[in-house]
Amino acid sequence: MINAKYIFVTGGVTSSLGKGIISSSLALLLKSRGFRVTNQKLDPYINVDPGTLNPYEHGECFVTQDGAETDLDLGHYERFTNVRTSQANNVTTGRIYSSVIEKERKGEYLGSTVQVIPHITDEIKNRIKILGNTGNYDFVITEIGGVVGDIESLPFVEAVRQLKREFGRNAIVIHLTFVPYLAAAGELKTKPTQNSVKNMLSIGVQPDIIVCRCEKHLTKSVRDKISLFCNVDSASVIESIDAPTIYEVPLKMMDEGLDTQVLKLMDVNSAPEPDLSNWKKFLYQHNNPVNEITVGLVGKYVELHDAYKSISESFIHAGAVTQTKVNIKWIHSESLEENDDAVKEKLDGLDGILVAPGFGSRGILGKLKACQFARENNIPFLGICLGMQCAVIEFARNVLGFKGANSVEMQASTPYPVIDIMEEQKKITNMGHTMRLGNYPCHLTEGSKIFEAYGKADIEERHRHRYEFNNKYRQDFISSGMIPTGINLQNDLVEVVEIPSHPFYVGVQFHPEYASTVESPSPIFTAFVKAAAHL
Ligand code: GLN
Repeated sequence: MINAKYIFVTGGVTSSLGKGIISSSLALLLKSRGFRVTNQKLDPYINVDPGTLNPYEHGECFVTQDGAETDLDLGHYERFTNVRTSQANNVTTGRIYSSVIEKERKGEYLGSTVQVIPHITDEIKNRIKILGNTGNYDFVITEIGGVVGDIESLPFVEAVRQLKREFGRNAIVIHLTFVPYLAAAGELKTKPTQNSVKNMLSIGVQPDIIVCRCEKHLTKSVRDKISLFCNVDSASVIESIDAPTIYEVPLKMMDEGLDTQVLKLMDVNSAPEPDLSNWKKFLYQHNNPVNEITVGLVGKYVELHDAYKSISESFIHAGAVTQTKVNIKWIHSESLEENDDAVKEKLDGLDGILVAPGFGSRGILGKLKACQFARENNIPFLGICLGMQCAVIEFARNVLGFKGANSVEMQASTPYPVIDIMEEQKKITNMGHTMRLGNYPCHLTEGSKIFEAYGKADIEERHRHRYEFNNKYRQDFISSGMIPTGINLQNDLVEVVEIPSHPFYVGVQFHPEYASTVESPSPIFTAFVKAAAHL
């Protein structure tokens, strides 16, 4: 195949129907037939990137290898397909407008009136084609955030209309809608789907496939009705029934023939059957655990589990490879700040403790207490980013006796003069950010837990932080038994610390959770789960 084919995924009726999971599932099915696939997300909000969005509102910010701060759907794409994404895979309205305005300021529009159509829509189309034009992909699956009919998503749907005209059968639209079951009437209702497709038609887009999210199976008559009223073949009406885990969705989509119908509509006549044997093995191990553990996830955004999406998914991947059911006990770090009884009550009996990443000083004291409890009670511990920084500061305060150990960010939580155990490091950031973002290499010490986990000395993991371990104190830590076991050799930065005398006490400055996928679970999560399950 020379030209890339474009598949657009839009949503109707309501948000949260799982466009990201459907897009990821389709990508997996096409990939497992041997095609080269990438997923893209277009977000209608005006923020230039999701980096500054409040995790309470938007869930986690996912970081790509090239250091882009992106929407959490890119995490689903990577976890399902094991295909790495980049800045080009996530585009917001804010980014589109800022580049159009920049071009206008440079005079690139030669005095013409700059308008939504064609200038904004052209910019959107370019961003979509960038991926296809690399020549690296047979299929580009572009998901449009939000719900069709929203004011913000109009320019995106207009761009899709134009691309459909331009590409003919090399572009299709999959529209995801909701088919509610009315218990009182004992019926599935198709009217919201009909209305949502009418909405699409009013802006000139006829969906080619309609995926119906539902709680009860679609009957033949419901399928026929949708096919008739929405002007699609009955093979283009795909049921997406609630699944016990998102990882079942690709199999359900295969049973419903989503990928087959996509290929048929796009004139791809010969394609191997999808090989999902590894995926099925993963699901079997996930569904048939032989061990069970409970880990405490100590963080400050625990009310919204999506804020730690990649972490909870990493536990699912690591749990499946080790056939371990990992229960997560969500613990608000501030709830550990009341008194020591609260700490004992919340943390006693856990098989492992993970102290989560985060920003700002709120809840830090509770995180320090969790580090201390895990350290003193020999409970397997994994600290990620801010969690590693807390482990280091707790050790400095309570073992080295540096009472004022701190980072500028955490200052509020000590009455003592500050000792900057973590220091702000500006020199080595990439892409002009004030943060270290994206992949950086790390050299692991042979014989350490982290080396054992990865099975090699040189790794790369993703970062998202401002503060770094202050090398002035490195020797004090080593002398007292907290050892740097992972170093960024280019800049001599401590990336991993461990306490060798503890059964498993590991802090990582990077975010291993972003790289964890079904096909390639995070080695350090797997090692942590094994330690917690005594495997
Ligand atoms: N706030 C810390 C820093 O900027 C940690 C960030 C994080 O956990 N991602 O260094």
